[in-house]
Amino acid sequence: MDKLSPEQRHKNMAAIRGKNTKPELVVRKGLWSRGFRYRLNSKKLPGHPDLVLRKYRTCIFVNGCFWHGHHINLQFDDLQFTIENSECCKIPKTNRTFWVAKIRRNQARDIEEQKRLAEMGWHCITVWECELKPSKREETLKSLAFTLNKIWLDDHAVKKPYPKLEEEEGMLKAAEERR
Ligand SMILES: [Zn+2]
Repeated sequence: MDKLSPEQRHKNMAAIRGKNTKPELVVRKGLWSRGFRYRLNSKKLPGHPDLVLRKYRTCIFVNGCFWHGHHINLQFDDLQFTIENSECCKIPKTNRTFWVAKIRRNQARDIEEQKRLAEMGWHCITVWECELKPSKREETLKSLAFTLNKIWLDDHAVKKPYPKLEEEEGMLKAAEERR
């Protein structure tokens, strides 16, 4: 464990952090092949979402489990416990205080950005790197597509059911009463 030199670690993490990382490509391809269209890395929106689907009013974030602290609740009191027990986010044993602070900041920023997006009327979906492992990939993409379709349907639901029919019924009634 933890045998990388600081430089190597920095390099690795820079690579993980960069855009066009593999998990993001998996999501793009998966959605594209299912007919969804999107924009990438929208600079205009808070948090620069990885994918923006205007038609669905939805932003998708593809999050690395390490950087965004998947399965780690850093707001917990017993930090040691949650850190040791996350399967996704293994915080290095050296410089632990630094990493915890860093990931905690990232999490706080994620929450803040998604809150702002929600206030602007956007739905936000987070897809985690670990959910895109080959064994889980198809299931994740399927459920993502399902969620998007559900969002669209909910947003376009007719608020008042069959207004036309009710109108027609009213007219029929009025006609009957006139008789
Ligand atoms: Zn994860």
